Amino acid sequence: SPSSADAVLDGLDPEQREVATALHGPVCVLAGAGTGKTRAITHRIAYGVRAGILQPASVLAVTFTSRAAGEMRGRLRQLGADGVQARTFHSAALRQLQYFWPRAVGGELPRLVERKVQLVAEAGARCRIRLDRTELRDVTGEIEWAKVTQTVPEDYPACVAKAGRDAPRDPAEISRIYAAYEQLKRDRGVIDFEDVLLLTVGILQDRPDIAERIRGQYQHFVVDEYQDVSPLQQRLLELWLGDRDSLCVVGDASQTIYSFTGASPDHLLGFRTAHPNATVVKLVRDYRSTPQVVNLANGLLAQARGRAAEHRLELVSQRDPGPEPHFTEFPDEPAEAEGTARRIRELIDAGVSPGEIAILYRINAQSEVYEQALADQGVPYQLRGAERFFDRPEVREAGVALKGAARAGGNDPLLDDVEDLPSQVRAVLGTTGWTAEPPAGSGAVRERWESLAALVRLAEDFARGRPEATLADLVTELGERANVQHAPAVDGVTLASLHSAKGLEWDAVFLVGLTEGMMPLTHAKTDEQIEEERRLLYVGVTRARKHLTLSWALSRAPGGRAGRRPSRFLDGLRPGSGASHRGGPGGQGGVERGGGSRRRKRGPVLCRVCGRTLTDAGEMKLMRCEGCPSDLDEALYERLRDWRMQEAKELGQPAY
Ligand code: ATP
Ligand code: MG
Repeated sequence: SPSSADAVLDGLDPEQREVATALHGPVCVLAGAGTGKTRAITHRIAYGVRAGILQPASVLAVTFTSRAAGEMRGRLRQLGADGVQARTFHSAALRQLQYFWPRAVGGELPRLVERKVQLVAEAGARCRIRLDRTELRDVTGEIEWAKVTQTVPEDYPACVAKAGRDAPRDPAEISRIYAAYEQLKRDRGVIDFEDVLLLTVGILQDRPDIAERIRGQYQHFVVDEYQDVSPLQQRLLELWLGDRDSLCVVGDASQTIYSFTGASPDHLLGFRTAHPNATVVKLVRDYRSTPQVVNLANGLLAQARGRAAEHRLELVSQRDPGPEPHFTEFPDEPAEAEGTARRIRELIDAGVSPGEIAILYRINAQSEVYEQALADQGVPYQLRGAERFFDRPEVREAGVALKGAARAGGNDPLLDDVEDLPSQVRAVLGTTGWTAEPPAGSGAVRERWESLAALVRLAEDFARGRPEATLADLVTELGERANVQHAPAVDGVTLASLHSAKGLEWDAVFLVGLTEGMMPLTHAKTDEQIEEERRLLYVGVTRARKHLTLSWALSRAPGGRAGRRPSRFLDGLRPGSGASHRGGPGGQGGVERGGGSRRRKRGPVLCRVCGRTLTDAGEMKLMRCEGCPSDLDEALYERLRDWRMQEAKELGQPAY
C-alpha cells in the first residue's frame, strides 16, 4: 500500500528521497563516501516494490562484492522487499550462462581455471619465453586487462600503444603468450574469470532469442560502485538493458580503486551525456563520519589530481564532533603493531565493541605482526571480516560433516556415548581435524579454527535454548541461518586490506604501514597509478565513523636503520609537515611517538594463504607458498574467490 511504501522513505534526506522515488528513466547519483548512496538505492528498490511499481523478480541490483550483495538482500528483506536479485556482475552473468549454455553451446559449462598464473607460465613456456615471478604477475594482469577491454591477442600491441600503457614486456611477446594461454584453456576445457563475462556478452550479442528471454525477466537495473565498472561489465549492462533505460547507477569517482583491472570512472562521469534525460542527484551530507574525519578526507581529496579529482565533492559531516585523528610514528614495525594493539585494548576497555574496530593495510602480508600483537593483548580478531561466515570453506566442510552425522542418526558409532549436542558437534568437527584447544601460531590455521569454534558456540547457544534438540535440528537451523546470512557473532577486530574494505564502515579504524613504498606501493610509478593509491587511502580514511589513527614505522625490524619516511600523501595533513590544509587537523598536539618493541622469539612461519608451515627460506620471506596467489594480486584474487563461492553455491540451480 502507498502508506507502507512511504514508511520506507523515512530516514532519507530530501536528495536521497529524490533518488528513491525516481523510479522511471535513468538516474545517476554522484556522491562522496558515507553520503548514503548504498542506502538510497536500497530504499529505492524497497520503495518501488512496496508501492507496487517494481516487481521484485524484475529488478537486478549489481554490487561490487558478493558480501555487499548479501548485505543488500538482508536489508531489502528488513524493508519488506523480498525476492529482489542482488548480485555481482560475475554471479549474475554466471547464473545466466549456466542456464543458457546447454541451449546456446551444448553440453555443460566448462569449469573455472584453478591456477591462472600457472597457466600463464605454461603459456609462456610454449612460446619459449621465461617469465620470473614479477613478470608472470604483470603479464597475467595484462591479459586480464586485454580481456576486460575486449582486446584480442592480435590487437594487443596496437591497443597498448593507443592506450599509452606501460607493458611489462615486449607487447608482441605478451600477445603471443596471451594467444597461447587462450589455446591452453581450450585444450583443457576450462574458462577463466573474465571468460564468464565475455561468454555472456557473446551469447547475448549472437542470440537475440536468448537476449530477449533475459530482457523479459529483468526490467530494472541498479548498479552500486559504478565508478569501478569495467568496459566489459558496461557492455553486459547495455546488453541487459537493450533499448530500455530503467537504470540507476551510483558512485564516487574519488573512490576509483580498480582501474588497474581496466575499470574506469568515465561511465559514471559521462552518464549524463550518454543519457541526456537522466535525473542526476548529488549528495554531500556525510552521515558516516565525524567532522574531524571528514575534514581529513577533504584535505586528502584537495591534493588529488587527475580526471576523477575534477569531480570531487566536498563532504559535510552531519555528526557531532569527535576526537581528532591520531598520527603516530613508531621506530619499527613490531612497535607499530604493539602500539596499535595497546590502543585497541584501551578502546575495548572503554566500551567499544571489537567488531566495531578495523585495522586496514595495503597488502595482506602486513597483517602478521598485527595478529601477533592482538593475540598478545588478548584481543579477538578476524582476518576475513569481509567474507561471509557461511561461505567460508571450513564452515561449508563442517556443514557437510554435520549433515552426514545427522543423517546417520543414532547409528553413528562416533556419537555412541556422546546426548549432549555440543559434544556431538565437537566430536564431528574432530573428524575434520578440529581440536578444542586453539592451534599454536596465527594466520590461516588460526582463522579456520576460530570459524569452527564459533560454530561450536552456536551449537551451545542453540542447545541451551532447546535442550531436547538433535543434531538434525541443528543442521536445519544452520541451513536457515546460512540462507539469511545470520552468522554467529564472531566479534573480533577486523584485519583487512584497503581494497576489501570498500563500502564498509567501523567506529574505529587504524590505517597502518603508511610509509613511502607501501602507500603508495612501490609498484605504482605513473602519475595515474600514484593517484589511484591516494584514492585508496581516501577509501581507508572514510571507513571510520569516529576514531581514526594513521601510523607508520621508520624501520622494518627493531634496531634497523630508520630509513623510511611517512607517506607523501600525509604531507600537509599530518601535524608539523608544512602548510596545513584548510582547517586541517591541527588542533591537538603533533605527531605522537610510540616506543620501540621488545624482540620476541617467533613461532613457525605459516603460509598466509593455505596455512602450511613454511621451511623454504624464500617462501618464508614471502610468507606464503610459491604456488599460492600473491598478495599483490589480492584485489583480483578476492574477486575471484567471491565469484567461486557464489559459483559453488549456485551450481545446479536451474533458474536464472
Ligand atoms: P561508500 O561510498 O563508502 O560506499 P555510501 O555513500 O554508500 O558510502 P552508505 O553506506 O549508504 O554510504 O551510508 C553511510 C552511513 O550513513 C550508513 O551507516 C548509513 O546507514 C548512514 N546514513 C545514510 N543516510 C542516512 C540518513 N539520511 N540518515 C541517517 N543515517 C544515514
Ligand atoms: Mg556504498
